[in-house]
Amino acid sequence: MRKDKAIVVFSGGQDSTTCLFWAKNNFKEVVAVSFDYNQKHIAELECARNIAAELGVEHHILDMKLLAQLAPNALTRPDMEIRQGGEGAPPNTFVDGRNMLFLTFAAVLAKQLDAPHIITGVCETDFSGYPDCRDIFIKSLNVTLNLAMDYQFVIHTPIMWIDKAETWKLADELGALDFIREKTLTCYNGIIGDGCGECPACVLRKRGLDSYLKSKNIL
Ligand code: ZN
Repeated sequence: MRKDKAIVVFSGGQDSTTCLFWAKNNFKEVVAVSFDYNQKHIAELECARNIAAELGVEHHILDMKLLAQLAPNALTRPDMEIRQGGEGAPPNTFVDGRNMLFLTFAAVLAKQLDAPHIITGVCETDFSGYPDCRDIFIKSLNVTLNLAMDYQFVIHTPIMWIDKAETWKLADELGALDFIREKTLTCYNGIIGDGCGECPACVLRKRGLDSYLKSKNIL
């Protein structure tokens, strides 16, 4: 078994692109996997494809359209506005089981490719309240996947405990700040780079970037 091969769950956004650079820094061989789940913005998959090509990373896109059928939500339905969650409820961009399914399918592919390391950009500190982004869930799934496939996966979550400003810092340390700033897509309105500036994802991204750049100038 090759221990130096990793697969990155990759959406083309800030977090997963940072994870892709992190993986390239930590593993000899890196593969990326993206999911087609009928995203409103097909630009997301295009963006992921372009980044993988530019970085020379083997890229797989798996068809997960079933997910949109099971759980219509604001990321897949053009007629649904993005709403923030309130009083402990997640925002309506949440899809039940999405990360669990993505990671499980990524693991099936990872085993086929003999890549025991799985990297995902989930994060507990961005307050989105997605239950399957929590550390305890990732650890639980790691055990389950190992038992399910009799294979020693190691799920890595490089940004689990850091906030958006620290994610920018990590990108900078990896020499990828400008690349990630200009070429990734986080915006819910499908605009690459700094985005629309108004949707919740853009607001979060910009707040983190401003905070990081400010701290960098002061230090
Ligand atoms: Zn936006």
